[in-house]
Amino acid sequence: KQQLRKTRNIIQKFAKECATPVTKLWHVADDLVSSMEASLASSNETSSTLNMIISSVTSLPNGEEEGVFYGVNLQGTNLLILRARLGGKDMPVSGLHREEISVPNAVLATTSREIIDFVATEIAKFVSAHPCNEAGTAAKKKKLGFTLSHPVDNAMPFTNHPVGEELVKDINQALKNHGMKMQVFALVDDAVGGLAGGRYYNRDNVAAITLGMSTKAAFAKPAQESELAQSPNSDELIISMEWGNFRSSHLPLTPFDTSLDAESSNPGNGIYEKLISGMYLGDIARRVLLEIAQETALFGSKVPPKLMTPYLLRSPDMAAMHQDTSEDREVVAEKLNEVFGITRSTKMAREVVAEVCDIVSERGARLAGAGILSIIKKLGRIENRKSAVTVEGGLYEHYRIFRNYLHSSVWEMLGDDLSDNVIIEHSHGGSGTGALFLAAAATRTH
Ligand code: ADP
Repeated sequence: KQQLRKTRNIIQKFAKECATPVTKLWHVADDLVSSMEASLASSNETSSTLNMIISSVTSLPNGEEEGVFYGVNLQGTNLLILRARLGGKDMPVSGLHREEISVPNAVLATTSREIIDFVATEIAKFVSAHPCNEAGTAAKKKKLGFTLSHPVDNAMPFTNHPVGEELVKDINQALKNHGMKMQVFALVDDAVGGLAGGRYYNRDNVAAITLGMSTKAAFAKPAQESELAQSPNSDELIISMEWGNFRSSHLPLTPFDTSLDAESSNPGNGIYEKLISGMYLGDIARRVLLEIAQETALFGSKVPPKLMTPYLLRSPDMAAMHQDTSEDREVVAEKLNEVFGITRSTKMAREVVAEVCDIVSERGARLAGAGILSIIKKLGRIENRKSAVTVEGGLYEHYRIFRNYLHSSVWEMLGDDLSDNVIIEHSHGGSGTGALFLAAAATRTH
């Protein structure tokens, strides 16, 4: 009985500190808008800003593009290569081929030049495996869009490479070396890719976010309203931001978050990311469970040693435990054993685990929802227009309860009258496919 009371006390305190009522979510969204404005206004980048970057992409697709296009998405160790034929106005996409290749660690450990060479080799293999038989296409240059996500491991050489023209030149050269008639038309981060994919299917699409291991956002802003000095050469500015660096006194941080941050590889940075992205959710839950284990002997008189290992609980396992609907919570029992070596757990312990996962994911998802509305608010589109936002990334795609919490936070924040104004869409065609649409859009202006 005493164990139960102590456990409830810890959980209730944690739940209270994690609470995200609508008023709080709007405070977070408003603060994020202010941070965006401050970041756009200042030219010197500091780690506390959102590092907003005007993308080199000057046009998004309009859905009328026609032709065969290629896309490449490189995220960490995962290389996705795509090809599809866009049919033109009101015509479907056809002949989609996609291949996922994992980049061997031996290649990742080399220089960016060698990684580029590896990518070019794989593209050449892909193109010969999926030949395009349309008349006239063989002689023409193939059009390639390229998206990159920040690799999990910052030591990956790609990040040290000047992303931009220099890298485009290197990729084009590598393609040439492999005898390819192919040219890179766009090279941007994967959030911009998501935006391009979203816009291709829906004209109202103005923003995209990625919610996987890490999180990023991009949005399109009418150029004439720009605060920037430079004269834009397109109707829209495409802006990408590392919103994971956002911080605000309104973010509901608990002592568990503070210690996670302090012990992380980048203390003081990525505060928003540490609340909402797939990299951290499991570890926040683990920290809470560890405290409960220490204070109440929930998993027996000896604290399971593996419960002390940082990042041992990953978000897919957390999701599996959270979403276990079996009466005895058998999945929770299995995962506790598999992940933490807890061979026996009481039903009460399993319920506590599910509850902790619920609190952590609800908070993360709702804060992500607030982030989405901050972009729509920044664009001045909350009230009188429809907006669509694309979300991609493993966390959103595979963690059903997280996704539901995110959607309902947006509806709650907008209220009944406005909730139809913002549509959240899962990326059509899947994560990483945006690169292909960027290539298509870029050729309109070339
Ligand atoms: P990345 O963000 O690494 O570029 P993804 O978008 O594929 O790549 O996201 C992968 C992340 O998504 C994983 O690290 C994990 O945090 C999360 N994830 C993947 N599958 C699941 C799942 N079944 N449940 C919860 N989270 C998941």
